[in-house]
Amino acid sequence: MRIYLDHNATAAPYPAVVEAVSRVLRDSFGNASSVHAFGQQAKAELDDARVRLADLLGAEPSEVVFTSGGTEADNLALRGAAEALAPTGRRRVITTGIEHEAVLVTARALERAGHPVTILPVGTGGIVDPSSLEEAITDDTAIVSVMHANNEVGTIQPIASLAAMARAHGALFHTDAVQSVGKIPVSVRALGVDLLSLSGHKFGAPKGVGALWVRRGVRLSSTMTGGKQERSRRAGTENVPALAGLGVAAVIARESLPSMAKVARLRDELEEQILARVPGTAVNGDRACRVPNTTNISFDGLEAESLLIALDLEGVAVSTGSACSSGSLEPSHVLRAMGLPHPRTRNSLRFSLGPTTTADEVAFVADRLPALVEKLRRLTATAAALR
Ligand code: PLP
Repeated sequence: MRIYLDHNATAAPYPAVVEAVSRVLRDSFGNASSVHAFGQQAKAELDDARVRLADLLGAEPSEVVFTSGGTEADNLALRGAAEALAPTGRRRVITTGIEHEAVLVTARALERAGHPVTILPVGTGGIVDPSSLEEAITDDTAIVSVMHANNEVGTIQPIASLAAMARAHGALFHTDAVQSVGKIPVSVRALGVDLLSLSGHKFGAPKGVGALWVRRGVRLSSTMTGGKQERSRRAGTENVPALAGLGVAAVIARESLPSMAKVARLRDELEEQILARVPGTAVNGDRACRVPNTTNISFDGLEAESLLIALDLEGVAVSTGSACSSGSLEPSHVLRAMGLPHPRTRNSLRFSLGPTTTADEVAFVADRLPALVEKLRRLTATAAALR
């Protein structure tokens, strides 16, 4: 049995997405910028995808800028806003310590380029307190960037309050919604944001496509320069087949949001089973305010990597946190920012379920884990005694 519980790293494409990608790749190969019929056929596919994605977000199609994924969308939001607003004297960038590297590393690069950067703290539950933004925001703030849902612990941030605060101070507000789109309802108007990033491969579309939603009227410099694609906001020939797949995934995501309640029940069952059957375990992050598919659990007296490998040998795929940092033994920057004690930043695993997860799979993992953990703890203790 092979069990995939790493949907926050990437999700399998829906069969209808695979079909749409193949169809467009085969039948609509024109360049969407070409005037002739081949080009117009490809442009029609692109237009469809834009309308479908806009519908998922409650947005206008003209506000959608297609990108190569979440990382590029985050870069465009932060760098584009910082550059566009610099001449007005607004240079500060405010973000949080639990953002994905696409935001955090970009903020650090902007800092080196002369933009003051403020990193907001989060509480032990992994949620930003809006009062910390109220204290930190200044009249020279260009952009505030706070993720909608965290990729490691799944916590949902109070975006509407934070965005209203940014707006009251004349700053732009960006949210990285890569981990919320497809898992919970995401309406750009209800959130009140100016910029929103998403990534196709997190909700059943192909890898290498995503979008930045840009509220009409927002000034943004381009980071990818060249041709006039995407209303001159993102140069480069669009990946029409993959974007057609993104459009199909957007429709499915919208229709299947109600079924996330089932995913939440399975996640809760897995979590309860682990807490009850494996001693020395605890859930990281606020359990009430998080996306329905994610749980992050620490296992006392273990290195998360060794449990990850033991589970992999049983056919179960999980993660130690963000995909980018697995393979390294770095402690999680998210758990560290939440103020968890050092061992817990290294002994925690993320289980992220998806629409295809079954009760049998959850039962299998819950049955296997107690013995695996006990064995690894014994080995760890023996190794420590021998040192
Ligand atoms: N932002 C968050 C919160 C993510 O979880 C990820 C991917 O792990 C990204 C951004 C990057 O998205 P992409 O893989 O499309 O570049």
